[in-house]
Amino acid sequence: MYNIMTPGPTKVRENVRLARSTETTNPDLDKEFYIYYKETCTILSDIMQTKNAAYIMAGEGILGLEAACASITEPGDRVLIIDNGVFGKGFADFVKIYSGETVSFVSDYERPIDSQELRAFLEKDSDFKYATLVHCDTPSGVLNDIKTICTLLDSYGIMTVVDSVAAMFGEYVNVDESKIDILCGGSQKVISAPTGLTMVWVSDRAIKVMENRKTPIASFYANILNFKNYYKDQWFPYTMPISDIKGLRIALENYLEEGNSNVIERHKKIGEATRKAVEQSGLELYLKDGYSNTVTVIKVPEGLTDRQILTTMRDKYNVMIAGSFDVMAGRVLRIGHMGENATRENMIETMNALGRTMKDLGFPLKCDLTDAFLNAL
Ligand SMILES: *Cc1c(COP(=O)(O)O)cnc(C)c1O
Repeated sequence: MYNIMTPGPTKVRENVRLARSTETTNPDLDKEFYIYYKETCTILSDIMQTKNAAYIMAGEGILGLEAACASITEPGDRVLIIDNGVFGKGFADFVKIYSGETVSFVSDYERPIDSQELRAFLEKDSDFKYATLVHCDTPSGVLNDIKTICTLLDSYGIMTVVDSVAAMFGEYVNVDESKIDILCGGSQKVISAPTGLTMVWVSDRAIKVMENRKTPIASFYANILNFKNYYKDQWFPYTMPISDIKGLRIALENYLEEGNSNVIERHKKIGEATRKAVEQSGLELYLKDGYSNTVTVIKVPEGLTDRQILTTMRDKYNVMIAGSFDVMAGRVLRIGHMGENATRENMIETMNALGRTMKDLGFPLKCDLTDAFLNAL
């Protein structure tokens, strides 16, 4: 087994894996499961600091993004796509599939969204039903200030869909304070449950928009409204993946045991120490500003390819980090220090493997990455 240090899927703790192997009831017919599901959703709402309902859907993080767009987009609706990264840009595809009209606010991929620039843009055009935004855009690692941006959009009466798949649980999120209408998350990133689940937190305003549509939601599987009355009606739109949900529940209990602020602090320390070590070593961070504590994105040094570095690190030193994709393909390396990955021990192994790899490839670093990391920790 490689030491998996990618920005998702992350490592899964043994008690989570074991929870998934326990015997299960019939999740459609057993009212105990409805209670268990509801309790799990309440934990999710509490952690994201909201009174909004949370729902767990069967499908990876992408399903949450698509479900949000499917559920609130009607043909011809104008939707603002806030694009400073690959996932940010990608939201436009979901909106278009459901016949929305997209307008993009594009900004530098090396920096977070500047709320003053966005305000200036909105002064000229704010006729949008909703806007889409990514918290941590993982292919480049940029972290956007969702609270400032979503409250700004709210002041123009624009609803918000936020993809925090790669940030939530490791970066602070307060849904109510930030006035986020649909927050999207996934099981395989910071919370460190196995892949397969998406979670959405949905405001009353968004539910009303779904209920008052003139046209039906053009999807069944991605229809969030189908979940609204699951408890009252004791009915799910499809059979819930009970083993996955049991795993998620234990991962949430692990999280609560460590404590929300402790987890965020752990990510902050690891993120900062990693960045410091990378900079001291002569490698270059991709971003100029807006670092997420869940992922570090490093430029591939000139004369080398991402493939060479990733393969050597994996095959010779047993550590798997990631390259990137879309417009970021080949340009960067990504270390996912999120969730169960974000420990001192894992990072020592990773820094060590990266340092040795660079030396092997004829790019010796200015300092020992591991020492620099530990000094900064
Ligand atoms: C991982 C991730 C997703 C979900 O992608 P999957 O392919 O379903 O894992 C969505 N948004 C962001 C920002 C992510 O990092």
